[in-house]
Amino acid sequence: MLFDVAIIGYGPTGATMANLLAMGGHSVLVIDKEADLYPLPRAVHFDDEVMRIFQTIGIAKPLSQAVHINPGMRFIDQHDRLLLDWPRPQQITSHGWHASYRLHQPDLERLLRDRLADYADVTTLTNMAVTAIRDLPDYSLITGTDRTTGRIDTFTARFVIGCDGANSFVRQHIAAEMEDLGFAEDWLVIDVVLDSPRPDLGDHTIQFCYPDRPMTYCRNPGARRRWEFALKKEEDREAICAPETIWQLLSKWISPQEATLERRQVYTFRSHLAQSWQQGRYFLAGDAAHLTPPFMGQGMCMGIRDAANLSWKLDSVLAGKTDMAILDSYMAERAPHARAFIETAIHLGGLIHSLDTETALRLADPKSEGHKQLKPLAPKLGTSALFDETQHQMMPDVGRPCPQIKVGNNQTPMDDMAGANHIIIATCRPENLASDILCLTPDDSPQIAPLLAQQNAEALWVRPDRYIGAMAPDAKYANQLFPEFLWNS
Ligand SMILES: Cc1cc2nc3c(=O)[nH]c(=O)nc-3n(C[C@H](O)[C@H](O)[C@H](O)COP(=O)(O)OP(=O)(O)OC[C@H]3O[C@@H](n4cnc5c(N)ncnc54)[C@H](O)[C@@H]3O)c2cc1C
Repeated sequence: MLFDVAIIGYGPTGATMANLLAMGGHSVLVIDKEADLYPLPRAVHFDDEVMRIFQTIGIAKPLSQAVHINPGMRFIDQHDRLLLDWPRPQQITSHGWHASYRLHQPDLERLLRDRLADYADVTTLTNMAVTAIRDLPDYSLITGTDRTTGRIDTFTARFVIGCDGANSFVRQHIAAEMEDLGFAEDWLVIDVVLDSPRPDLGDHTIQFCYPDRPMTYCRNPGARRRWEFALKKEEDREAICAPETIWQLLSKWISPQEATLERRQVYTFRSHLAQSWQQGRYFLAGDAAHLTPPFMGQGMCMGIRDAANLSWKLDSVLAGKTDMAILDSYMAERAPHARAFIETAIHLGGLIHSLDTETALRLADPKSEGHKQLKPLAPKLGTSALFDETQHQMMPDVGRPCPQIKVGNNQTPMDDMAGANHIIIATCRPENLASDILCLTPDDSPQIAPLLAQQNAEALWVRPDRYIGAMAPDAKYANQLFPEFLWNS
């Protein structure tokens, strides 16, 4: 069988990508070398934009039962002074969700996998390592090796997406180099489960900016708590994981009588960006394309955004609505966006380490000049052939996510109405708009007229990844300013 898309890697990026492509009715093969999902948490945070992508997939409701709403992050020096505050609003944001959530990564991955089981055209193969890929004129031949029996199988697919993590096999196959953005540090990550409540530990994430030993505390969902410790140069990666050393490090907060050690592991936090995210029918997404220090809690979020960006473009090509050229916009839009997050995370890492906190504060938040509060980072997508260059440069919100409008008496969120499809928001439904595309007008919601006025527009094109792709100052010209695939031919 020739699959439309083969996804190598069934982590959060691969599972999100597979769900979004399956929603378009495409045949998807997912292969992972592990027998089951990675049991221990790495990511413990995600944001409102990412929750919106999970909403499109249909797992936001059960996921919201499993998360904890994060009040924010505080950077504190060794004299207990607050250096920098990053409060996260407790109200619902324009995305329709909370700004910041704490999660247990396996809970999310389980929900993504369960949801995928609903699609007949999806084949998932676990415990199978991809060991070779061959390019044939019309498709790729993928060789998988069963890790228990050694049995070899081959599969064919029109597109191959490497969601296969930091040591990506697909990245090696397309010989994409990684650009090193300069951060590499060893950190010990300790997860514990509290035996009884400890409200005194607090709900904020705390970055302890101690030059001698930078540390992080995270309040994770339920009874889970995490501490992270930067390793000193002379410290041994194995020796520091000994239980007596772990409890010694934690003794400022907690004792073995109060909590159970769930895991401890030394990670090297890196900052890398692949120099090429696509070659022909091959794509990289998630950690295969970029690695960031986790100080902003954005590594996984970046992979989920990759999936939202690439999946609708692949869907358009597979459905015959556009040609392959649209796929060039994937890296063009996503790489600068990912770079902005990685660079900010590196600056925050600098603050956590610095003896010279004033300089580090300016680096961490260069625009605020003395203000010690960090605002959420909301970079635009990089420009691509999909954007009108002038609109992308001049219009503040073209290339940024569109607010999620609530529609009708039932206040139905617009994303629920559109699924993984485009939306037009306009003063009236433009003539010749393809019949499957949702168009919202001021009659549908009192939020629409102010939104259009704010954008100085009579029509907005909202892409399936919920970014504003273009605006039309006059609705009658929307069919000239918005892409051809939105219109009846
Ligand atoms: C300590 C720590 C804390 C973090 N905290 C956060 C956070 O709070 N928020 C956040 O957003 N991010 C965070 N991250 C980052 C986040 O965990 C990763 O970015 C995310 O897990 C990457 O997902 P992925 O699906 O791209 O890759 P992975 O989860 O690494 O999945 C890759 C998959 O590919 C499979 N694979 C690899 N090679 C092959 C092959 N040849 N054949 C078949 N399968 C293969 C692997 O088995 C694996 O399942 C953190 C990371 C760490 C280490």
